[in-house]
Amino acid sequence: MARYTGAVCKLCRREGQKLFLKGDRCYTDKCAFVKRSFAPGQHGQGRKKVSEYGLQLREKQKVKRYYGVLESQFANYFEMANAQKGITGENLLTILESRLDNVVYKAGFAFSHAEARQLVRHGHFTVNGSRVNIPSYLVKEGDVIAIANKSKSSEKIKTVLESAGGKVVPAWLDVDAEAGTVKILNLAKREDIDLPVNETLIVELYSK
Ligand code: SF4
Repeated sequence: MARYTGAVCKLCRREGQKLFLKGDRCYTDKCAFVKRSFAPGQHGQGRKKVSEYGLQLREKQKVKRYYGVLESQFANYFEMANAQKGITGENLLTILESRLDNVVYKAGFAFSHAEARQLVRHGHFTVNGSRVNIPSYLVKEGDVIAIANKSKSSEKIKTVLESAGGKVVPAWLDVDAEAGTVKILNLAKREDIDLPVNETLIVELYSK
């Protein structure tokens, strides 16, 4: 599956906010956004008047980049969200939060979305007892995600589990860091998602 392979810190600088794409480093003063909180490139520090379309586009890019989703997949998620009952923008965020790689990251079993994606792809997780290696797999209420028994001896997984205990976990997840499991208590609601984004602008963008 295709994925973005460029410099991720540039994405935070482009979006004007921290997207936490590099794990632990994001919480230190080595963070590139802390050092240079302006857009990359020759004209990055210049003032620009942003059009309505520009604002809508930036919100979409911000969400896409935060979850590590490419354009066509994001458009598919929007269609899914639009077909559901309720508020399309909120549905969209709920779908993105339900991705298996996001659940692994939010549960504290990976330091970043990128690492979570890699761990899932390498078959380190099960859903309801069956191994799932598809990062975009959408979890459902009541699902139990667990670190595969065979993977518990992996040094990488051990390191992740050691630090998982201290992480603040969203209320929709019930994490047992010792057992390496997370239960989906309910799908994430808008108030559970702390990404500062105006999802209405994304809906407006796709409604043109
Ligand atoms: Fe963004 Fe993290 Fe890089 Fe800071 S260190 S700019 S938060 S990816």
